[in-house]
Amino acid sequence: MTLPLITTKSEEIFAAAQKIMPGGVNSPVRAFKSVGGQPIVFDRVKGAYVWDVDGNQYIDYVGSWGPAICGHTHPDVINALKEALEKGTSFGAPCVLENVLAEMVIDAVPSIEMVRFVNSGTEACLSVLRLMRAFTGRDKLIKFEGCYHGHGDMFLVKAGSGVATLGLPDSPGVPKSVTSSTLTAPYNDLEAVKHLFNENPGEIAGVILEPIVGNAGFIPPDAGFLEGLRVLTKENGALLVFDEVMTGFRIAYGGVQEKFGVTPDLTTLGKVIGGGLPVGAYGGRRDIMSMVAPAGPMYQAGTLSGNPLAMTAGIKTLELLQKPGTYEYLDKITKKLSEGLLQIAKETGHAACGGQISGMFGLFFTQGPVHNYEDAKKSDLAKFSRFHRGMLERGIYLAPSQFEAGFTSLAHTDEDIEKTLAAAREVMSSW
Ligand code: PMP
Repeated sequence: MTLPLITTKSEEIFAAAQKIMPGGVNSPVRAFKSVGGQPIVFDRVKGAYVWDVDGNQYIDYVGSWGPAICGHTHPDVINALKEALEKGTSFGAPCVLENVLAEMVIDAVPSIEMVRFVNSGTEACLSVLRLMRAFTGRDKLIKFEGCYHGHGDMFLVKAGSGVATLGLPDSPGVPKSVTSSTLTAPYNDLEAVKHLFNENPGEIAGVILEPIVGNAGFIPPDAGFLEGLRVLTKENGALLVFDEVMTGFRIAYGGVQEKFGVTPDLTTLGKVIGGGLPVGAYGGRRDIMSMVAPAGPMYQAGTLSGNPLAMTAGIKTLELLQKPGTYEYLDKITKKLSEGLLQIAKETGHAACGGQISGMFGLFFTQGPVHNYEDAKKSDLAKFSRFHRGMLERGIYLAPSQFEAGFTSLAHTDEDIEKTLAAAREVMSSW
C-alpha cells in the first residue's frame, strides 16, 4: 500500500453513522476511540485479508474478534451456508444440526458433558452465572480484574475489553445491589482468591475467568494458577468456570482446558464455534447442566438459539479445524510474528513485552513482565496509538486497543507475517 492512506469514503460513512448510532458503531472498541483517528469501514473480507470501502487492502489480525480462525469466508463454510440457506434461516424447533454441533463440542471440550447453545458470548456468561448460583444456592461470584465476560450487569466490575480500552468506570445503570455480589481479584493472584474465600465462607458460588486473558491484552496464566483455582474451588464447594469464548477451539481444539490439563466444572464458548455467525454456548458437568430448563428449573431460552445457519457455520468450521497440523501451523506462524515484533522493538529501542499461544498473541509497550491488568496498564498508550496508526497506513489491521489480544488464522501465510514484520520495522524505526 502506498502512503498516505486514503480513507475518504470510510470517513463519510462513519460521519453519517455517528448521527444515527451511538458513537457510530454497534460495539464500542470498533470506534478506534483509544487509538485516535477514525475507524475504517469494511467492504468485504476474504482469507487473511480485509478491504475497506475505499478499496484499501489490509492483512487482518482481528479476525472479527476471533471467529475467523480458518480465514474469512472459507469456501467450505460459505458453500455449506448456501445449502443450509435454501432450507430456511430459522426454525424455532429442534433440528439435527444442533445434535451434530453439540456432539462435536462435547467430544472436544473436556469439561462439557452437556451443552446449551445461545447467540453470543454475553448470553453464555449471563446464563452460566445463573446456573452457578442455582446449583450452589449461593450468590457471590469471584472474577478477575481486566477479564471480560460480556456486558451483563454483574460482570461490569473491573472489566476488560471496551471497558478497559475506554477507561470507563463501572457502568452507570448497573445497580450496586447487583455488583455487590461480584468480588474481584488480580489475575494470577491465588492468595487474593484464598483471602476472598476465607472472608466469605459458604457464600461464593464460583470463580469465573478467562483461562488465558485476551481482554486486557494477551496475558497467560502463571504456572500453577489454573491448578490452584481448581483446588481452591473444590475445597470451598464452589464451581470453577472457564470463559473460553475467545480461547475455545483457538488455543487448542479442546481449548485452554485441554492444553493445560485443568478441567473446570462449566465452560462458556462463542466466537469460533459460530464460524462467523452469532453463536455462544455454555456447558459442563451433566449434574449441573441438568438444572437447565426444561430438564430442570433454571430458566434460560432463546428464539434464535441453535438456528440452522449458525449451527452449519460452526460445524464446518470445527471440521476444518480437525485437520491434522491446524494448531501446529497457527502456533508456528504466530510465534514468528510475536518473536519478530519483540525483536524489532528491541532493535529499535522500544520497551515492549508480549507473547503468544497458538493463534493468539499480544504486544504491550512496557518492559513488563505483565501478569495482570495493573501491569498491562503500565503500557505506553501513546506509543501503541502511533504503532497502530503506522501499521494501518501500511496495510496491517490490528485491534484498535492495547487491551485486546490479536488473532491469526489458517489463511495467514509466511509471506503475510514477513510483510507485517517489515511494516513494524518501518513504523518502530520512525520514532
Ligand atoms: N467472554 C469473553 C472471554 C470474550 O472475549 C467476549 C467477547 N470479546 C465475551 C465473553 C462476550 O462475547 P460477545 O461479544 O459475543 O457477547
